[in-house]
Amino acid sequence: MAEKRRRLIAGNWKMNGLRDDGLSLAVQIARRGPTLKIPALDLLICPPATLVSLVVQAVAGSPIAVGGQDCHANASGAHTGDISAPMLADLGCRYVIVGHSERRADHGETDSRVRAKAAAAHAAGLVAVICIGESLAQRDTGQTLDVIAGQLAGSLPQSASQANTVVAYEPVWAIGSGRNATVEQVGEAHAAIRRTLLERVAGGGAVRLLYGGSVKPNNAKQLFAVPDVDGALVGGASLKADDFLAIAAAVPS
Ligand code: PEP
Repeated sequence: MAEKRRRLIAGNWKMNGLRDDGLSLAVQIARRGPTLKIPALDLLICPPATLVSLVVQAVAGSPIAVGGQDCHANASGAHTGDISAPMLADLGCRYVIVGHSERRADHGETDSRVRAKAAAAHAAGLVAVICIGESLAQRDTGQTLDVIAGQLAGSLPQSASQANTVVAYEPVWAIGSGRNATVEQVGEAHAAIRRTLLERVAGGGAVRLLYGGSVKPNNAKQLFAVPDVDGALVGGASLKADDFLAIAAAVPS
């Protein structure tokens, strides 16, 4: 029998937003998100670290969850500028994104570093949203499925379970480019990721699997119809409440 998984629409605000913008966006999502009335749908917003506290307060009392965009692998210590998973949990976060391709590219994050971060998230009681995805050169040379299987195997800690882990498939060439993967490409990648999850994680059939890469209101519905797509990790379109909520509204009810 096919697993029934809750859907998740996650907004990654990246390095965007000062307090006024962040507050206004969070308040709109907290107010309007619950009116969508789509059963078994979770909404998550991941603001920059500077806004986490403000956003947690703004969405308090609503079902909207808040997450960090990254965490350090250690719980505390001499790591100037970094933020630990317990710090995010202490602020009221329930999730944290790890291994986003922008962090892999900008900060040289390897699979083993991502795995350590995900383990730290789990130890702090957070759900780790583990991002994987191939580059355009890797896709063009037919390496996509090997690359994402390798990234997933390398980035999943022993502690991963259906309750504490979400996987986001984000082809690097589709992020922020306005170019999204075709439904066939997404379907093939998600089916392969599901196979790896079934092999490596107890209850791997229940781990939620998101697609990310230029998800917009006008393409969300077709992406959400692909088997094994349990929602989206949304960058640019998560900065406008109308667009983010329109994407959430495209989740089949
Ligand atoms: C992302 O940053 O995770 C992302 C998917 O961005 P965008 O939606 O802008 O492509």
